[in-house]
Amino acid sequence: MSEHHPDSLQGVLIGAHVRGGGPLTARLDRGVELGADAVQIFTQSPRAWKPTQYAPDVLAAYRDAARGHESVHATFAHATYLINLATADETLFARSVECLTANLSVARGMGAAGLVLHVGSHHGAGLDGALPRIAAALKVALDNADDPKEADLPACPILLENAAGSGGTVGRTLEELECVLDAVRGDERVGVCIDTQHLWASGVDYSTIEGADAVIDEVRARFGLDRIGCLHLNDSKVPFGSNRDRHENPGDGSIGADGLAALIGHPALADVTALLEVPGEGDGPRATDVAAARAILAKGEAMRPGHKDRAHKSAAAKPARAAVATSTKRAGTVKPATAKRPASTKAESATKRTVSSATSGGTKAAAAKRAVGTTAKKRKASS
Ligand SMILES: [Zn+2]
Ligand SMILES: [Zn+2]
Repeated sequence: MSEHHPDSLQGVLIGAHVRGGGPLTARLDRGVELGADAVQIFTQSPRAWKPTQYAPDVLAAYRDAARGHESVHATFAHATYLINLATADETLFARSVECLTANLSVARGMGAAGLVLHVGSHHGAGLDGALPRIAAALKVALDNADDPKEADLPACPILLENAAGSGGTVGRTLEELECVLDAVRGDERVGVCIDTQHLWASGVDYSTIEGADAVIDEVRARFGLDRIGCLHLNDSKVPFGSNRDRHENPGDGSIGADGLAALIGHPALADVTALLEVPGEGDGPRATDVAAARAILAKGEAMRPGHKDRAHKSAAAKPARAAVATSTKRAGTVKPATAKRPASTKAESATKRTVSSATSGGTKAAAAKRAVGTTAKKRKASS
């Protein structure tokens, strides 16, 4: 774990969504061009049902290239936008489950650290009625996706992304994400992705130290920091609370560099990957956006007195990164998102790796859940 490997303590990885085209391994080359520590990819066209078929050796080639990569330390996948696990339409639901399963198969094949998913919309019918469907769909996909069955391959969790809050989209609050996690009974194969633009648009103000602390406290109380598989680090084209999903380049939107810094500099997020999904000049994140994100992170770390070590490390970020590049430990072992916290012991991580053994995972999760539930109730009562 990281505390035993000082050279891997470079903090937040800054990554970027990269476009498709060409051989699969070209995604890594694009990450290099951007100076990104991590990449996010679509496993197929995000607005079409038709799955892209990858031969097993193509996936294996990607895994091999990613495993030893000197600067791109993690790959995340983003699921198809058409998927709606909350729909009451049986045909759409069936297609969604099939598509999610195909997405997850590819993500696993690539050795991805997580598959980010927009859960979908109940179109105003209410979340409660949709929860059993959502839970069933997640379980079917997680149980049925192809698995390369490599002993040293980390699990690929499905990461539920928070929503900006329009049109009955599930995940418009952290409480709704908690409800979905409860519905899957804390299944260790399900985590979350927090999108900073969606959070802002849904009316959560984390742009001050106090506000950011409150968000982290709420995450702790509702489902725990271990569930955060990655962040989407996006500024906002639209105002606070506008419930619209419109990304802006980091520092150029209504959140601004200081607002983003307050959250991503939080020490509780020191081990997460923050992925840019920003327009750039219309063609996605640029190297300048990645650099801007790193500057925002450094600013956020410096805003936190009492975490001077991190701030210092960040100021000297490039030597730290160079050290990481030579660390085969870090580069070769992308931990599953649910086992990323520095506080995790080896034993805990080992338990989390056997995520598919539902019995032990379920019991552990249930115990954790009881503890979290108590805190959450206290919070609810006091607010
Ligand atoms: Zn997304
Ligand atoms: Zn978005």
